[in-house]
Amino acid sequence: DFGLGSWPARRARINPARTALVQAGRSLTYAGLADRVESLAGALTRRGVRPGDRVAYLGVNDITVFETLFATARCGAIFVPLNYRLSPAEIRYMLDDSGASVLVHSADTAGLVAAAGGLPHGVVIATEGDFEPEIAQGGPAPDIEVRLEDPCLLLYTSGTTGRPKAAVLTHGNLTWNTVNQLAHLDVLGTDKALCIAPLFHCVGLGQITLPTLFKGGSVEPVAKFDPGTILARIGEAGITSFSAVPTMLEMMWRHESWDATDLSSLTCVLYGGSPVAERVAQAWLDRGVKLLQGYGMTEAAPGVSMATHEGTLDHPVAAGVPHFFTDVAALGPELTPQPLDGTPAELLVRGPHVFGGYWNRPGESEASFVEGGWFRTGDVVRVDDDGWAHVVDRVKDMIISGGENVYPAEIEAVAVRLDEVDACAVVGVPDERWGEAGAAFVVVRPGAQLDEPRFRAHLERHLARYKIPKHVQFTDTLPRNATGKIRRVELRTLAAETFT
Ligand code: AMP
Ligand code: MG
Repeated sequence: DFGLGSWPARRARINPARTALVQAGRSLTYAGLADRVESLAGALTRRGVRPGDRVAYLGVNDITVFETLFATARCGAIFVPLNYRLSPAEIRYMLDDSGASVLVHSADTAGLVAAAGGLPHGVVIATEGDFEPEIAQGGPAPDIEVRLEDPCLLLYTSGTTGRPKAAVLTHGNLTWNTVNQLAHLDVLGTDKALCIAPLFHCVGLGQITLPTLFKGGSVEPVAKFDPGTILARIGEAGITSFSAVPTMLEMMWRHESWDATDLSSLTCVLYGGSPVAERVAQAWLDRGVKLLQGYGMTEAAPGVSMATHEGTLDHPVAAGVPHFFTDVAALGPELTPQPLDGTPAELLVRGPHVFGGYWNRPGESEASFVEGGWFRTGDVVRVDDDGWAHVVDRVKDMIISGGENVYPAEIEAVAVRLDEVDACAVVGVPDERWGEAGAAFVVVRPGAQLDEPRFRAHLERHLARYKIPKHVQFTDTLPRNATGKIRRVELRTLAAETFT
């Protein structure tokens, strides 16, 4: 068994007494984790879990997420972490779609489980109440051979378009992503990583958490993101690393305790998932923090490219260079791969960490690959003269106005350079004259003053005329998903209702 489920026992053979996981008032060594994973795998087997079965998890970041993940993998079964911020109907959909036979949930999601209708034909295990007795009772751990090509994880993609679909990630995909991250980053066995980003998303799991556990470092799951608490924890615990989404970096930088926080223990701060405002990246770099942007997606488990320790200061908002075992190319007009250059094009990715398809979606799975096994990322990317990747925008978000391609992300990046602008999102609306026109939703920083003429004047100073949004709407907030991505489908509907 070379699967993920064998990791705790393998590390325990080398460094049994090192701390694997810590959390308020509780810590587990690798030997302790390996024991508990073995018992829980026995319990899951006693509960009928067999290779290929699905074990769902609903709850905030916690040691129990890792125990359940490794135990499920140890059974050759498939772990399905779910987003606790979804509605009962969405949870119901994912439980049915994945066909989970076991659902593990935390105390604070008990209501959500009930509202979603529970698991009528399966076993429900509450982390408070059921979990310890299950481990204590255990059972014979399965005697099975897990292969690297076996599925390990179903991760539902953010689903900013259409109904959510789950990427099937194998043990091999997750292992190769780990190898890629470690080839890129200076991760040590003495590292103390905070696991801030939610574990139902690939940034939380794949970027630094699994690589740190692989190296024998320690990971501290954080249940709820609070900028002040995280800053305090960095200083008091000597945290070395964490992965975040850009909105988290921004909230920490804007927090009142930012200036007084000792950040000197940090050796590696990763972020990704959506574009970062230059001023936010710069604020972290100015404090001497080794800040690295990663670019990737659920389907790539997730890393595709990452900034380097040497180059990040010269390319503060670029997405770095491809990972060690990752090939990239541009999608050509005949749907064939071409060399990637300075011209924005849809990015193709290939590598042993890239998934083989979506769960129960043969059509969509096939459509997401082109000849030669290249995955279509749906992202428009260009590379600069140094070979660094710049994520221009998503193909689907591009606006075609009067025959010109307009990338909302470019306009948004310019908009937030204005100090008074907290956030901005640009979407397309149908337009009689131009086919499509841009509509900008602008969130002004609390206490700041900004009117439309001054906002327009700022955009006009930095952007060609055809890129300037035709409509501007000031608003209090932008709709975002759990990882801070703007929900553009909602904004498009709103823009169409407001401006046409
Ligand atoms: P997900 O569907 O949740 O796996 O998110 C993956 C998507 O997030 C990618 O296809 C990109 O559109 C976006 N993304 C990820 N990393 C970055 C980044 N560093 N900069 C801009 N967009 C990103
Ligand atoms: Mg996606």
